[in-house]
Amino acid sequence: MKIEEKYCPINNEPLRDEEFFCRNHLRALKLLVTTYNSWDEAYEGLSWEEYLEKLTKIKESVGIWAQELIQYIIDNKINYADLKKIAKSE
Ligand SMILES: [Zn+2]
Repeated sequence: MKIEEKYCPINNEPLRDEEFFCRNHLRALKLLVTTYNSWDEAYEGLSWEEYLEKLTKIKESVGIWAQELIQYIIDNKINYADLKKIAKSE
């Protein structure tokens, strides 16, 4: 029987119970989505892409896990709906 190993696409960390990203990147994603929801209220009609763009300009205040995650999302053009689904999985 072959057990299929899965890895985080960002840092190649082997995945345990996580489905797509490793624990640290998943945590960063959850925070990213939660923060977007509160920013969306503050800046009316802020799109997910604009939000990520803003975050890349204030790198110092974004953690390293989030920075890597944001870069990955932008490079791979992963849409918000898919990310929300991933963020909800545990
Ligand atoms: Zn990772």
